[in-house]
Amino acid sequence: MREIIMAFQGEMALKGLNRGTFEAKMTKAVRARLEDLGEFKLRTAQSTLYIQPMDEDIDMDEAFRRVSKVFGIARLSRAAVCEKDFTAICQTAEDYLGQTLRGIKTFKVEAKRSDKTFPMKSPELCRELGAFLLSKHPHLRVDVHNPQLEVMVEIRDFGAYIHGPKVPGPGGLPVGTSGRALNLLSGGIDSPVAAWYMARRGLALHHIHFASPPYTSLRAKLKVVALAREISEYTGNCMLFVVPYTKPQEYIRDNAPDVLFTVLMRRSMLRIANLVAATTDMQALVTGESLAQVASQTLAALACTDAAQDLPVLRPCIGMDKTEIIAKSREIGTFETSIEPYEDCCTIFTPPHPKTRPTLAEIEAAEAAMPGLAELEREAAANVEKIPIRIGDDPEM
Ligand code: ATP
Ligand code: MG
Repeated sequence: MREIIMAFQGEMALKGLNRGTFEAKMTKAVRARLEDLGEFKLRTAQSTLYIQPMDEDIDMDEAFRRVSKVFGIARLSRAAVCEKDFTAICQTAEDYLGQTLRGIKTFKVEAKRSDKTFPMKSPELCRELGAFLLSKHPHLRVDVHNPQLEVMVEIRDFGAYIHGPKVPGPGGLPVGTSGRALNLLSGGIDSPVAAWYMARRGLALHHIHFASPPYTSLRAKLKVVALAREISEYTGNCMLFVVPYTKPQEYIRDNAPDVLFTVLMRRSMLRIANLVAATTDMQALVTGESLAQVASQTLAALACTDAAQDLPVLRPCIGMDKTEIIAKSREIGTFETSIEPYEDCCTIFTPPHPKTRPTLAEIEAAEAAMPGLAELEREAAANVEKIPIRIGDDPEM
């Protein structure tokens, strides 16, 4: 029996003339994720990507787990393939699902015949395959409304496919079909979630992290590397830029009113991110900010931050409650790493009562009194450390 994975396209199936580009990106992403598991043959037809293992001993559980993280896939299923012949279909259904059927009480068969040359129409195929399975498992009962297992048979161009229910995929659009952006990755809960949301809309991402040693530790940096690696299961390989941020941060601390410190620092971080983005042709910045979560995320503070530089700043978590962000972070698998207790440069030197409604005029006046800042920012951007993040690398480095 041959088992394959079928990945069904979502929104991208509606993409008209561009669809080929979307399919090529999705196929490329799947190929990259499966590369080290063995050889697979990939083929797209009828809005479905067929993923066929070419070796006997490929770990299909792991392959399925990986494919289920590829954006563009709305639903997916493992399936057994056979010839388009009724006897073969019955035998394959029994071989593939017989064990499951033994353990349940109710089932139904659904058939879909997109190859109209197949002699049996869908209702007949349902009925006859149902009768065959009942003859093998007399304890079963057909329940068309609420069956414990729905056996699907699809007669398609290249064969007959038998599978259980489809499970939801991550949806969205294949990574790389919407351009490239630089994600500001802290060690917190929000920014990995922000990265996931924007990658789901087809953005290819690199990450930038600001570290201020010795105020922030090596462990804090390694935690961010671990997060970037976890996100790469969705986005594919990427680069993590680590900015040595100590000097600009100390300079702001020593030369500006402390109530403005947070917004000044965030503007400075965005300017540096802009410089790094320019070197790698990134067209936007992404952050995990959520409206009013902290003092630097009030509307007035965000407006001052945005005015610091020209790239669009995408904030997919802006309208989310913390509980929703946490739920998503658990779902995508970054939560446990995010809650490891290491310091972030954003939380050092923060004043007890930062101003929640700074005006751009006072912020610009404070920056005018720091003539050395721009040079320190350029220096930090020039000395950025580049850490390649590859899916599947040993998390212990
Ligand atoms: P998170 O949970 O993602 O850390 P947060 O709620 O703690 O977010 P802030 O610390 O105010 O919020 O940071 C807001 C956003 O700024 C983060 O989501 C992230 O995008 C960015 N950011 C904060 N600190 C850093 C850092 N050290 N390096 C890179 N980006 C950062
Ligand atoms: Mg943070």
